[in-house]
Amino acid sequence: MNRDRLIEEFIRQISIPSISGKEERFALYMESRLKELGLKVEKDSSGNLFARLEGSVAAKRPVLFCAHLDTVPTDPVQFSIEGETIKANGSAILGADDKAATTAIVETLLSLKEEGIKHGDVEILLTVQEEVGLVGAKHFDVEKAKSRFFYVLDYSGPIGLAVCSAPYANEFHFRFLGKAAHAGSEPEKGISAIQALAIAIANMPLGRIDFETTANIGIISGGKATNIVADFAEMRGEARSRNSEKLEKQTQLMLQAAEEAALSVGAKVDIDCLREYEGYTLSENEEIVLIAREAASALGLNLKLVDAGGASDANVFNLKGRKSLVLSCGYLRPHTPEEEVSIKEMLNLSLLLKEIIQRA
Ligand SMILES: [Zn+2]
Repeated sequence: MNRDRLIEEFIRQISIPSISGKEERFALYMESRLKELGLKVEKDSSGNLFARLEGSVAAKRPVLFCAHLDTVPTDPVQFSIEGETIKANGSAILGADDKAATTAIVETLLSLKEEGIKHGDVEILLTVQEEVGLVGAKHFDVEKAKSRFFYVLDYSGPIGLAVCSAPYANEFHFRFLGKAAHAGSEPEKGISAIQALAIAIANMPLGRIDFETTANIGIISGGKATNIVADFAEMRGEARSRNSEKLEKQTQLMLQAAEEAALSVGAKVDIDCLREYEGYTLSENEEIVLIAREAASALGLNLKLVDAGGASDANVFNLKGRKSLVLSCGYLRPHTPEEEVSIKEMLNLSLLLKEIIQRA
């Protein structure tokens, strides 16, 4: 491992903007970087990069590392380095989510070569539009990968965290239909869609429901003028749970609250409820977890299993039948201007990947 080289690589990567849907430039950079390192790279029709480094030992099993190419929206980033920490200056977002991972991948591949380490096939999957709905992962044909184990490098915190469960989620769109009337001269002839919406929200269990279940209404809008009884109002929200039965129950309560609220004022409600993503739970005895645990202890780290409150590409791959474990990447406070990453942790991540490769 080479600290200066890793810092240089990270800075080069964060200097290439790659907001979701506009990842092409960064994808081109990563494509040429992986090719330089001897990998065969292909791009699928959604823009995902899938690369393979042929193994030098047939006996070892292939292993796949996944990271995403995109970042949340941000201005071009200025950064500063203080000791072990790299952070953004001003209001831009650093993008260590997920470029700490893509940087560590490059460093691992470089040192595999330099140190002449014997390894099986190493597959790298770099997905597009993770941040806006796991788009690339959903599109990726997992049959392309020889690996049975997918390590998804996309979680905040010091190296050694592994996400063994993540929630199921539903998203909702409620459209309340009332009847317009003049608010001053004949309000009794109207039916307020806004009132129906308000009653619905007031009667919905929201926020933290229990340790593994949450719900939120995040967007509301409706009405045209203060002197018109609103004939239309809509809201969007979501519910998540790591327990699919609890999600079902929470969903029913939200739908019921909306329907009863509409009924109570004589309005109607149209509801779209969609499964946003499927959750998963891995047991601590799964081989993918055991390999990560061994690799971590080789570095003197204790692998700590955590439950996630959000989704990642791993939700999609687990659903598609490939065991998929999310590993932390050493960055903190992603998606905020306070995001930062530790150089030491990025080096640790590279070491961890190398240990995983050797244990596969
Ligand atoms: Zn991420």
